[in-house]
Order: sequence, then structure tokens, then C-alpha cells
Amino acid sequence: MSKVVVCARFRPLSSNEVRDHGNGVSIQRIDDESFNFKDEKDGDLLFSFDRVFYEDSAQSNVCEFLASPIVRDAVNGTNGTIITYGQTGAGKTYSMEGPSITECDDQKRGLIPRVIGGLFEIINSSYGSTTYSVKLSMVYRFSNSCRLRFTWRKLGRYHSTAIFFDVGMDLFDLSKDNIQIKESKSQGIILSGVTEIPVLEPAEALQVLSKGITNRAVGETQMNMASSRSHCVYIFTVQQELPVQKRTETGKLFLVDLAGSEKVGKTGAEGKLLEEAKTINKSLSALGKVVYALTSSPQSKLNHIPYRDSKLTRMLQDALGGSCRMALLCCCSLSPSNASETLSTLRFGARAQ
Ligand code: ADP
Ligand code: MG
Repeated sequence: MSKVVVCARFRPLSSNEVRDHGNGVSIQRIDDESFNFKDEKDGDLLFSFDRVFYEDSAQSNVCEFLASPIVRDAVNGTNGTIITYGQTGAGKTYSMEGPSITECDDQKRGLIPRVIGGLFEIINSSYGSTTYSVKLSMVYRFSNSCRLRFTWRKLGRYHSTAIFFDVGMDLFDLSKDNIQIKESKSQGIILSGVTEIPVLEPAEALQVLSKGITNRAVGETQMNMASSRSHCVYIFTVQQELPVQKRTETGKLFLVDLAGSEKVGKTGAEGKLLEEAKTINKSLSALGKVVYALTSSPQSKLNHIPYRDSKLTRMLQDALGGSCRMALLCCCSLSPSNASETLSTLRFGARAQ
């Protein structure tokens, strides 16, 4: 596959972090591509990425570096994926959406509004007989509890257990709460029955997505979710009609705001919360394994890529690998109080290179 672009981003210290731990930080800058992580045990650890965005970095720079080439290729029919990874509170959603998806301050606008702007700019400035159409879908979470409860009798007592499923919910239609993933020869991976909303211009696209974001909050309340740790996947489908060649080309762009990567033990989770957390962590480690398998061997076709280990990776199957483009933004806190989660995020990124 073409190289995975891996970047690290450090958000500014929060006021709580400053209040509780002062202005100290866990890294020392070297340049735009590398820094030393100050580890309590092992001393300075050098990390290098395609680009490092420090706390003073602009949203526009992150987008320009990470997303612009992927957006250009998606318009031309090449699938791509942009993923934000990191512990809860590390800046994943801020990087994706900005303070809100409809943010007007251009400096604060996140990747998604910029990607939408970029898509339509390319489409509207194209000339010739090709016509384009853009459709949006939004799929959410990949861990659902109690869809099936088994009860059995053993030693005269009844026992029961809930099975935790990896499921995707349609954020444009909350009644579709178990989206099936199918594969077809001609179309590749399909999210069966998922709502696809055609959009004609950026403002309309943002309006549609903000409805999905509102539904996300409604869904969380309705389903009585134990945790708010879930993946949120924004899917942009760009179709090109080529009348001269008499064919259509489709490029899919997946923007994935992953669930927090923090270890479960730290939060003292129990029962339902713990089971949910395990399913979430399983899909994150499945993603890590897929990316690692794709990047570690150039002849990866010969190797087994474990796409089927989670719904998340299965869904992204034809947007990861092959000629697809992928970018990973590893979001981190600078605070020494988050050092162990930061280190684990940086190691996830380093492995994906
Ligand atoms: P996550 O989605 O990883 O859980 P958020 O994106 O919600 O984390 O960020 C946590 C908090 O930090 C939010 O209040 C957000 O506004 C703030 N924040 C994150 N990244 C930045 C940044 N680059 N600049 C300013 N504030 C940020
Ligand atoms: Mg978030």
C-alpha cells in the first residue's frame, strides 16, 4: 500500500492540567518531525513522525498536511482514510470537527469542514464533461451490550450473560442500529442499508453532518450507554460520471474519530462498562494489527491481513491497503500526568509507520 502518513499532535495544556500539575510538559521539541519524550523510567525516548504538530499548530496546517492529498485522490476515485487516535481528552474530536462542526472562526475549523470545502472546491473547479456527486453517511460506535442475553442452569442455579456485539449504528437513522457489512465483487465493501444523503454544497453537507452529531447524543441517551467511548465514522462517497469513457468512478473517504484509547484498568471500570470497554479496545487493537500487517511487508497480499477481526477494520477494508491513502493523527496531552497514555499513543503511531 502507499505509505501511511503518521503525525503526532499535542494539544495545549488544559487549565485543569496547569492547575494540578503546573506548566511542565512530557516532551522536548527537536523539530517539525521529531521530539524527545521524557520517560520516568527510560529517560529520553526519541520519536519521529512525518510531521509533529505542537500545541501552537494551526488547524489549517494539520488539514493541509494530512488531508489535502487524500481529498484530491478521493475525487479521482481512490479510497482514503483519516484516523484520529488517542486517549479521551487528547484532541481527537477537536482535530476532526473543531470546537463544533459549524464553527465559523476559520482558525478553529476542524478537518471535516475543511475536507468538505476542499472536496467541493476541486469538484466546482473541474471542467470538461465529467459530473460529480457527493453523498454522506455517518456510522457510530462498535460495541453494544445486551442484544442477546443467554441464561443457563448449572448446579441448580441460573446464570446469565450478555454478549457484547460489535455493531454499527446509522447516525442518520437511529432505527438502523445494526448495520451489516457485506462484500460484493463489483462494489467492494458495502454497509448494507446505510443512509446516504446526497449533498450539493458545503453548507448543506455541514448541516447534514451536524444533524448526525445531534443524533449521536440522542442515541447515547436512548441506548443507555455505559460509556461514551465509541468510534464515529464519517463517510464521504464521491462519484464521477465519465460520459466519454461511459463509466463511473467512485472514491470513498472515511474520517474516523476513534474511541479513546486509554487502558480500561485505570478508570476502574466494572461490569457492563468493563465489557463495553473490552470490545472497544479489541477494535482498536484490531486496527493496530491491520495497519501493522499492511505496513510491515511490501508483499502484504501474500500475508493475512486480519480485517475480519472487528467491524471497524472490516468496514475500512477497501479504504486501507492496496493503493488507498491513509493518514493517522496521534493526539496527545503534553501533561506529565498523562505521560503513560501519551507514550502508548506514540508507540501505536510509531508501529504504523
Ligand atoms: P477527544 O475527542 O480526544 O476526547 P477533545 O477533542 O474533545 O478530545 O478535546 C478535549 C478538550 O481539549 C476540548 O475542550 C477541546 O476543545 C480542547 N482541545 C483539544 N485540542 C485542542 C487544540 N489543538 N487547541 C485548543 N483546544 C483543544
Ligand atoms: Mg472525542
